[in-house]
Amino acid sequence: VQRNPHESEFHQAVKEILESLVPVIAKHPKYMENGILERIVEPERLITFRVPWVDDQGQVQVNRGFRVQFNSAIGPYKGGLRFHPSVNSSIIKFLGFEQTFKNSLTGQPIGGGKGGSDFDPKGKSEAEVMRFTQSFMTELAKYIGSDTDVPAGDIGVGAREIGYMFGQYKRLHGGHEAGVLTGKGLLYGGSLARTEATGYGCVYFVEEMLKSKGLSFDGSTVVVSGSGNVSLYAIQKATQLGAKVVACSDSNGYVYDADGINFETVKRLKEVERKRISEYVKEHPNAVYAEGCENIWSIPCDIALPCATQNEISAQSAETLVANGVKAVGEGANMPSTLEAIDVFLKADVLFGPAKAANAGGVAVSALEMAQNSMRYSWSFHEVDDKLHAIMKNIYRNSISAAEEYGYPGNLVVGANIAGFIKVADSMLAHGVV
Ligand code: NDP
Repeated sequence: VQRNPHESEFHQAVKEILESLVPVIAKHPKYMENGILERIVEPERLITFRVPWVDDQGQVQVNRGFRVQFNSAIGPYKGGLRFHPSVNSSIIKFLGFEQTFKNSLTGQPIGGGKGGSDFDPKGKSEAEVMRFTQSFMTELAKYIGSDTDVPAGDIGVGAREIGYMFGQYKRLHGGHEAGVLTGKGLLYGGSLARTEATGYGCVYFVEEMLKSKGLSFDGSTVVVSGSGNVSLYAIQKATQLGAKVVACSDSNGYVYDADGINFETVKRLKEVERKRISEYVKEHPNAVYAEGCENIWSIPCDIALPCATQNEISAQSAETLVANGVKAVGEGANMPSTLEAIDVFLKADVLFGPAKAANAGGVAVSALEMAQNSMRYSWSFHEVDDKLHAIMKNIYRNSISAAEEYGYPGNLVVGANIAGFIKVADSMLAHGVV
């Protein structure tokens, strides 16, 4: 805390991991003796930079850009870019730290990184988004490359922004280096199923958790928060598996639709028209809209998939979900449950899929995108989706067996942290003190 003052999100993420590692350290003192814990919580590099741009009124605006290159023990830094006014070094470091273990869990050769800016894309014109994004990439381009650091999207950074960044990088470097970014459009090196991967992967992971108790999505009621990239495809896959998704949200409020949320409507409203979720009720008069986000968790459901942002489920919301009989929670977003909320779920024996395992599908398919770019070849949608499905099952198996081995049977929080940690820590040991 003293080394990283005022970085509460980063402290929260570090605390969660270090607490899980107690049984590992007890069994393997080599990690303590070699300073692995001290090194693993310190980013290899944190770059912050000025992002000046000119708005449509001709005024100069200045935002702050970040890239944390957290850990490269098992591969090039890999992690998304977030454009949201809340972005600061604490948020970026928490995300980069988590990403290191998540990427390790995927079984792919990728290290941990994350970045972004406090730029708010809401209400900006197309031209403003392009000017900002080009300015952001002009600086970021100095630090990334297909074998060093490969950014992707996150909140506020979708296909449009990745396209502008790719264009600017290409212009600066004078060549088409496909592997420098993932989440690219299909026309210029993107992977089929990358758009769907995080949402689908989260549902595949929860499916494995449910199976362990003889349950399934079929016939269940699901609440998904958010209506962005992760939420949309979680809604689609859960619905395909026979569930009824009754609610979703944005940062202003949520919609409840007892008939089941209509995927096509949400997709068009959010991806094409870039409108607010409140517009949904105009097309589905039986649905109701409520202002405010947190009350979405008061809707009774069997499965909750928080897919919007960090700390969106408080202990109180967790208690409400438990009182309403929730059976499983799968974290599509990063750190959507507070530490206290996680405690509530674990004590109530709710199946709980932590973010670094449950939402690893996106980065896993990003690694598959890098592989396809290296081969100059692309796999079909089904090939990628099958690989994603197999990766998610594998993450579940590895996490559940690590939990069992270290004395926390069924606890996927501990299991995922341990399984992700060991591979990174052993690679760091192999590299000496660097
Ligand atoms: P998007 O920008 O596509 O969507 C984010 C959604 O969450 C929007 O509906 C947004 O509403 C809502 N939201 C954002 N901030 C807040 C807030 N402070 N309070 C309430 N709602 C909010 O982002 P993604 O879907 O890509 O990302 C969602 C989460 O998933 C993030 O935690 C991200 O880190 C995580 N994630 C994403 C991956 C990916 O592949 N995209 C991979 C792994 C994790 P509004 O439109 O009003 O802003």
